[in-house]
Amino acid sequence: MRWDNLRLDDSAGSPSPENGGQVPMFERGAVVRTFDTPGFRGMTFYEIQAKSIVSRVPEASRVPFRWTINPYRGCQHACAYCFARNTHTYLDLDAGHDFDSKVVVKVNAPELLRKKLASPGWAGEHIAMGTNVDCYQRAEGRYQLMRGIVAALRDAANPFSILTKGTLILRDLDLLLEAAEVTDVGLNVSAAFVDKELWRAIEPGTPAPERRLEACAALNDNGLPCGVLMGPVVPYLSDSPAQLDAAVKQIAAAGATHVTPIVLHLRPGTREWFLRWLHTAHPELADRYAALYRRGAYAPKEYQARIAAQVGELASRYGVGRRNPRQARAIQSGARPAARSAPARPPAETARPEQLTLL
Ligand code: SF4
Repeated sequence: MRWDNLRLDDSAGSPSPENGGQVPMFERGAVVRTFDTPGFRGMTFYEIQAKSIVSRVPEASRVPFRWTINPYRGCQHACAYCFARNTHTYLDLDAGHDFDSKVVVKVNAPELLRKKLASPGWAGEHIAMGTNVDCYQRAEGRYQLMRGIVAALRDAANPFSILTKGTLILRDLDLLLEAAEVTDVGLNVSAAFVDKELWRAIEPGTPAPERRLEACAALNDNGLPCGVLMGPVVPYLSDSPAQLDAAVKQIAAAGATHVTPIVLHLRPGTREWFLRWLHTAHPELADRYAALYRRGAYAPKEYQARIAAQVGELASRYGVGRRNPRQARAIQSGARPAARSAPARPPAETARPEQLTLL
């Protein structure tokens, strides 16, 4: 997906007293910021005035939505497997460390969105967020673009969905509740495993999986149905029966409305970065990966079907989608749930198409 026709200019450089922090990196200029505070050291933010904010998904895409909003480009969550890495190369930045540390910020996103939603040509279609970048990555704590975006969607009663690994989504609980009063709001948290060692190694910039599932529980507790995308299940690292069992058990305990597994895929850009990580962290798996992904970006259909079946069976066993968060936690702790005979929601172990997103 191209990105608003914005390209880096060869004359781009670092901010300096000579250019007053203004660097001609994009067609309409970028303000470059660094923050010498914990959590942001080594990061560079390029604040730009975007030309548009609602992007059309190419017809050829298999995703079940046609419009997306990506207020950031690049992601400090730094997941080694992130499929969006290649989008950074369209800006003449690299798909590896640049993707993790050089984040483009569309500072006029809320204002652009209000204009788009009010335009006569806009038909009020569903807009997906979290499809190419995590909109609740740490930078959102500073820029607060999502507050303006969710408020605009609420005011226009425009249906939308959010997928995130960021617990910061809870900051916007008030706006999400208001939006859900007037339109369809789909929420999904991404958490594929609960293995702490693997989390630190492969998703070093994200909140811990337990914190993400707590966010899922908090959303559900507050009446905002939230599911979990197990994205991605990482072959040979998070796909053992015990790991899947532990993950789905905690997902059920969070009161998730559904759980959907997605197996790791390795498209260009992601493939090189991920395999580099794998060769360093798990060289013993190099040959098995070469065999599993020998045909291209996707693991064989049989492997994907096996994971889907295992997760489906676990979801049924642990009652994903059949109990509210309090009941689910009571069952997990061994206590008798107060209202076991009155399911809070109909069974929904897998996501509806409109809820399915990518990260
Ligand atoms: S997978 Fe999602 S959370 Fe992780 S780096 Fe990519 S966009 Fe960010």
